[in-house]
Amino acid sequence: MYPTGKYISDGKIQTEKLLTSPGDTLYALAFHLLYDETIQVGKKGTFSFERGTYIYIGSAKKNMEARLNRHLSVDKKLRWHIDYIREKMHFIEGQTYLERRGECQLVEATATYVQATRPISQFGASDCKCKGHLLFVPYFSTGEGWLLPREKWKRM
Ligand SMILES: [Zn+2]
Repeated sequence: MYPTGKYISDGKIQTEKLLTSPGDTLYALAFHLLYDETIQVGKKGTFSFERGTYIYIGSAKKNMEARLNRHLSVDKKLRWHIDYIREKMHFIEGQTYLERRGECQLVEATATYVQATRPISQFGASDCKCKGHLLFVPYFSTGEGWLLPREKWKRM
């Protein structure tokens, strides 16, 4: 079961949404951080996180549902970089994708699509050489629309 329900963000009620398709091995998850926070990200160090929207991109070759469940739960042993900030944030929406190209390329495409920056170098990117798999947009909006549409990615 994915966490469900409604919560209030900047006075607006929002609903969580997660779209998955069989065979997809990439995923993107959007979260809102409602207040500025200083958070220790494991051994990576302590960072200031500005309030706003964060998008995390990863891949799961198998057991996608278990992976997403793990990311969305807050009660767990902290392992990945994203685990350290997850409990401070509200889940907004998630989308899975076919692995046409790799997760680093999905990060690039999503960053361009939502005009996001990468606030922490190499966040979630221990296994690759890119600038990080966490994106940041310094504002909120109601509802979804934070993630690259699956159809758009398919055509890239
Ligand atoms: Zn990467």
